[in-house]
Amino acid sequence: MAPSTPATAEAAPRPLPKVGVSRCLLGDEVRFDGGHKQSRFIRDTLATYVTFVRVCPELEVGMGVPRETVRLVQVDPDRPPRVRGTRSDTDWTDRMEAWADTRLASLQGMGLRGFLLKRSSPSCGLFRMKVYLENGMPHHAGQGLFARRLCEAFPNLPMEEEGRLGDARLRENFLTRVFVYDDWLTLREQGASAKALVDFHARHKLLVLAHDQARYRQLGPLVADAGKPGLEARLDAYEALLMAALAKPAKRRGNLNAMEHLCGFLKDLPSADKAELRAQMTAYREGIVPLAVPMTLLRHHLRHRDHGWALGQRYLAPTPPELGLNAVL
Ligand code: SF4
Repeated sequence: MAPSTPATAEAAPRPLPKVGVSRCLLGDEVRFDGGHKQSRFIRDTLATYVTFVRVCPELEVGMGVPRETVRLVQVDPDRPPRVRGTRSDTDWTDRMEAWADTRLASLQGMGLRGFLLKRSSPSCGLFRMKVYLENGMPHHAGQGLFARRLCEAFPNLPMEEEGRLGDARLRENFLTRVFVYDDWLTLREQGASAKALVDFHARHKLLVLAHDQARYRQLGPLVADAGKPGLEARLDAYEALLMAALAKPAKRRGNLNAMEHLCGFLKDLPSADKAELRAQMTAYREGIVPLAVPMTLLRHHLRHRDHGWALGQRYLAPTPPELGLNAVL
């Protein structure tokens, strides 16, 4: 099946979203021992829908393959941990920081829509990295050097560790963020107008509502003021709030809230169909059926009615349907 970006009101063919990736996850033999950590999902499935930008910090900084392993060492509590060789204690921190300055500047110009990072790597690890105190005691609190610099340089960029993609809810959440961010940045690259912001928000209302009610309420006033002076600052604020909202995976309650809104467009549904839909939403609430069951019914009924606003909701198709998501929680 031909890859495509998800349907939106003004969908048009365009390049696949660019997603950065730790090279070893694609099967490149760049690890310290000359091996790789290939992810079949990333290499075989996701590769159809995005264009990968490969990065291996340790290779690119000149550590070579094979190489001595490195680890994070907390020397100064007020500064990020240092990257040091586990046997030789060689300190790579300054060289990696200098390399990161250049590499991140080049990534800034590439229009990345997401980044997938290798977990438990002192360079690429995104969450709960093991950091050693100088007395040798470890604790889990840090990020790999490159992952930390990436977060600082791209605060709104969807990022995830490959190890967490095995969790269907986190996988769906990451991909939803990538494809929504792709739409958003494409809009900004084309020179977003106040009207474009209003239209974008209208299409993404229920998606945001399902993820984060508090930020949903904060976005409304921003959009209401879209036509006032200061559009660029408003777009920046909208982007930060939008991506922070979507970073929270949608929970059952949020999904039911969004589905209730869609049910409001089905008041003329025959009572038998209405009862069936309600029964499946209740089954979803009780954890008996996955989200895909009531969502499929909702899509079916909405498609047979002329409810443009509802059918245009990104919530109904957050990612390319061929990825087979929207089926969890
Ligand atoms: S985890 Fe990062 S630094 Fe290590 S081999 Fe993979 S891409 Fe390279």
